Amino acid sequence: MSEKINFQAEVGKLLDIMINSIYSERQIFLRELISNASDACDKLHYLCLTNPEIGKTAGEMKIKITPNIEEKNLTIEDNGIGMNKDDLITHLGTIAKSGTADFVKNVKENGSAMDLIGQFGVGFYSAFMVAEKVEVTTRKAGEEKAYCWTSNGVEGFEITDAKRESNGTSIKLYLKEDAKEFLDSIYLRQIIRLYSDHIDYPIVLDLGKAGEETVNTGSALWAKNKAEITDDQYKEFYHHISKNFDDPWLRLHFKAEGNIEYTGLLYIPSEQPYDLFQPDKKQGLKLYVNKVFISDKVEELLPTYLRFVKGVIDSADLSLNISREMLQQSPLIAKIKQGTVSRLLKELKKRSENADDYAKFWSAFGAAFKEGIYEDMSNRNEVAELSRFISTNDPEKLTSLDEYISRMQPEQKSIYYITGDDVKTLMNNPQLEAFKAKGIEVLLLTDPIDEFWPQVLTTYKEKAIKHISQADEDLKVERNEPKAEEGSLDKLTHFMADILKEEVGKVESTDKLTKSPVSLTVENGQMSIHLERLMRNHQQQTAFASTRILEVNPYHPLIIKLSEMIHEDKNKAKIEEITRLLLDQAKIAEGEAITNPSFYTEKMGEYMLFGLNETDKAV
Ligand code: ADP
Repeated sequence: MSEKINFQAEVGKLLDIMINSIYSERQIFLRELISNASDACDKLHYLCLTNPEIGKTAGEMKIKITPNIEEKNLTIEDNGIGMNKDDLITHLGTIAKSGTADFVKNVKENGSAMDLIGQFGVGFYSAFMVAEKVEVTTRKAGEEKAYCWTSNGVEGFEITDAKRESNGTSIKLYLKEDAKEFLDSIYLRQIIRLYSDHIDYPIVLDLGKAGEETVNTGSALWAKNKAEITDDQYKEFYHHISKNFDDPWLRLHFKAEGNIEYTGLLYIPSEQPYDLFQPDKKQGLKLYVNKVFISDKVEELLPTYLRFVKGVIDSADLSLNISREMLQQSPLIAKIKQGTVSRLLKELKKRSENADDYAKFWSAFGAAFKEGIYEDMSNRNEVAELSRFISTNDPEKLTSLDEYISRMQPEQKSIYYITGDDVKTLMNNPQLEAFKAKGIEVLLLTDPIDEFWPQVLTTYKEKAIKHISQADEDLKVERNEPKAEEGSLDKLTHFMADILKEEVGKVESTDKLTKSPVSLTVENGQMSIHLERLMRNHQQQTAFASTRILEVNPYHPLIIKLSEMIHEDKNKAKIEEITRLLLDQAKIAEGEAITNPSFYTEKMGEYMLFGLNETDKAV
């Protein structure tokens, strides 16, 4: 029985890159295959705990590497969980991960596939960097039938029935002409020690007549004494569990003692993974009970705002038979989580003292970390203290809330912020004019989460945190300039409100503007314009649109002129036209689309030409 199946299109593209564009560091294929073999052993180990029937048949688990010099092939064998036919088709023919398209695109753009291979979990396919043909013979634990999967990595693969004594997987690589160095046992030993020393199962090198040799030292790294672990070992372990290739930005190895005892070895990567903001991506730590692997990606061990933390938690106080459902309700797990979070926050606080170093962490993970202000009620203030922001003080630099407070004006009572799409547009938002005039700093917030955390963190160190639209007396600017006359201004705002009634709820005079004639805002307490835009972009229906307010600057010559015109009942048609143009300008400054762009451009063209002709006349 044999069946030919084509690769999913994305796998095809990936293999094409593997085969045709990667020539350096090819040796990592071995680490990837050993890592898969080790995962397969972990899975069987766990299955044995919950299903003693299978436990009986499983022998001692190990990974065996056999170079066959005569036939020029290399076999990586494990006696782990194995795969049945369905597993083979789904795991070695498609890529379930949503990031593969990104991967392929990234490689095309940046040219460097190496850094991305592990991160995107495409490990198995790296075999095709060194092999012209790959043969996978496998039998799943608890099942009778074995299968052989064969492919040359081009179009697809073939599955045939096969024979295999017991559960597990052998991967035979028919090495390419230029990859014969992977038959050399000295070189193999060196690669295994370098990349896979910490693997929990013995990695045995078959030396033919000279017998077998266990190459790795393989004890659970986290259980060792810190003093016995080298930086390189810590780093390799990080690469193994995170499947990342960067250097970790932070490493935290600790032992908690007290009511419950547990060990943690945690890392924060230095680079942002491509899927940090993909909600369906499963994150979390590896859980061990007394060095026995229990589960991967245990989300219950960390809050989601710390989802970028990688690592291992091991506690002898948990039951070996703990199931996924039990994890969710376990008070012990909840305690471990609490303790781990406070250790991480403490460590971040230490690292935050070096601003440049901390900025690296912040640019990679800040937008996720800030979610903690919203999410983590018990550590809200700590997370806020560790958060960094861009502000009008210096848009090139990050500031903490404490630094902001140290710069507050003597009479200033609140911390102010504005939200929007990007710092540049925000810097030029007319709503900031009075703040600038008074030297009051404003936080410029551009992440989606920034719309939410200020709703729960309404004060920090006794200072209110307010959106600029809620500015209080802080912002009264004393002015001696000419101003539109009260009565006419009133008439003008009424007139404008009537014309714009489809689009704005109110037209009001304001003291907040110093340069612009008008600006757009919303009623106090309503959803900000930026949030509305975000929701629209995510195709979420907004239940209601906030009432827009068009604010008018009574000191602006244009507004003074319009007030005079309306007072004298002159040229209403012109006032109407300018009113519409002013609303368009206010929208543009806010980052909103205007309703009738062709009207806007046509009219602006007319006014520009008129202006130029006037200048000519004056010369
Ligand atoms: P990843 O390991 O990141 O999931 P891979 O492409 O390396 O991605 O492997 C895909 C899947 O194939 C694995 O998740 C696993 O289910 C299966 N697999 C690979 N190697 C083995 C093996 N030696 N034993 C059992 N299953 C394996």
